Amino acid sequence: MHNPLLSRLFSLALFAFLPISLVSAHTDLCGLKQKRAGNVTKADFSQTLRSFKRVFASYSEREGRELEFFSDWNEDWAQAFARRWETDQVIVYGGIARINGSTVDSFALILCHELGHLYAGEPFSDSHNRMAVEGQADWWATMECWEKIIPELPLREGSTTERGFVASLIVASFFAENRNLPAPRIETPDQTIVNVINRTHPEPQCRLDTFVAGLRQESRPLCWFTAAAE
Ligand SMILES: [Zn+2]
Repeated sequence: MHNPLLSRLFSLALFAFLPISLVSAHTDLCGLKQKRAGNVTKADFSQTLRSFKRVFASYSEREGRELEFFSDWNEDWAQAFARRWETDQVIVYGGIARINGSTVDSFALILCHELGHLYAGEPFSDSHNRMAVEGQADWWATMECWEKIIPELPLREGSTTERGFVASLIVASFFAENRNLPAPRIETPDQTIVNVINRTHPEPQCRLDTFVAGLRQESRPLCWFTAAAE
C-alpha cells in the first residue's frame, strides 16, 4: 500500500474491526479448547470412520452383509454401540471422540471394540445375532482390529503396540472415570478368577488387562473369561 492516506484508512479500518474480531476469536478459542480436551477434530472423526468402513466392510461382505456407520459429531453423548439389524451397524456420537485425553488412536480403539461385538465371535451375549460379549469385543479390538487400522490413522510415531498401550490407557481411564474408580494401570492387573464368563462390562482394570493381552497376542484374562463349561 503506497498511498499513505489509504494506508492510514486501512489501519483505522482494522482498528474498528478489532472488537468484533476479539469477540469471534473468543468463540473460536472456546471451540478450540473443547477440541483440545479431546484432540480429535471433526475432520479426524469423519476420516477415521471412513477408514474403518474401508478396512472392515469385507468382514460383513463375506457373510453377505453390509457394514454401516451412523454418526453425529455434534451430539455430546459419550457413547458408541453396535447392532446387527438388516445391516451390521455401528452408531457413534461425537462425545465419544471428546473423552478426556482422547486421540485419534483412542477413538479408533473404541471403534475396534464396537466392531468386536460384530466380528469377534464367541462367547456371545446374543447368540441369535452372534454379538460378542464385552470382554471378547475388547480382546478382538487389540488382538485383530488394531494392527489392521493403525496404518490408516494419521499418527506416524511409535510402534503399533506402544500406541495400543497408550490408547488402551486412555479408554480404560474413561471407563474408570465413569464409575468413579481410580485409573487402571498396566502394572496392576485384576487378580479375579471367574467361574463363569462375565457377559456384562468387566471392571475397568480387567478391561485394560484384556486390551493389553490382545496387544501382546496373549490369551483372554481370567478376570472375565473361563474355558470351563457353564
Ligand atoms: Zn461394548
